[in-house]
Amino acid sequence: MLSKPPLRKKPTEIIKSIPEFDKKESLFLKQRGGEMDSVHKERHERYTIPDVEKFLKFQREHGSMQGKVYSVHTHIDYEPIPGYGDIHGFFQTIINNNYTSMVVSQIDSRYKAEAGRCHVAITKETKQLLSGLNTQEQKNAFLNKLRTKLSEIDNNSKNDSDEMRLHFFYNYCKDTLKLRFKFKALPGYRFNKNGLYFEKI
Ligand SMILES: [Zn+2]
Repeated sequence: MLSKPPLRKKPTEIIKSIPEFDKKESLFLKQRGGEMDSVHKERHERYTIPDVEKFLKFQREHGSMQGKVYSVHTHIDYEPIPGYGDIHGFFQTIINNNYTSMVVSQIDSRYKAEAGRCHVAITKETKQLLSGLNTQEQKNAFLNKLRTKLSEIDNNSKNDSDEMRLHFFYNYCKDTLKLRFKFKALPGYRFNKNGLYFEKI
């Protein structure tokens, strides 16, 4: 009789196995159908610093990153919409032919639980925006323009409420960058469409 393959740990278990997972963000790479590995070098309350060596190792072990691999990072007690830095970093990896989808996991520190996940993926239209970026100069120019645009949005919405700012940014990601969003609540939580966050039922 063949022995059963070892049981794979679920993403939630892996996220919760990181020390202080409910206080500091963590960052992972995951292959579709495969296990999830942590790839953070430094963890902070609102951001992580990736471990480049671990990224490259994952890439070597899993071959092409496109289509099969995605990044997962946590947001502690705030909306699972990627932030400005997340979006800029995401486009950097897309342009460099790495992974083309990402997941933001909202952590509920009060209940030490994962509340839900926001899946972000590029579409054909996003690819069209990026077609024609062949040289490194063209790629850098695109990323610089994106950075400028993101800080413009940030500055222009300074006087708006947090909820309005969030919706404005979310709409920019959908309508202009043509990203596709999917929200998946975990058991015991539901997605609040107005606030764009997962809440306890
Ligand atoms: Zn983030």
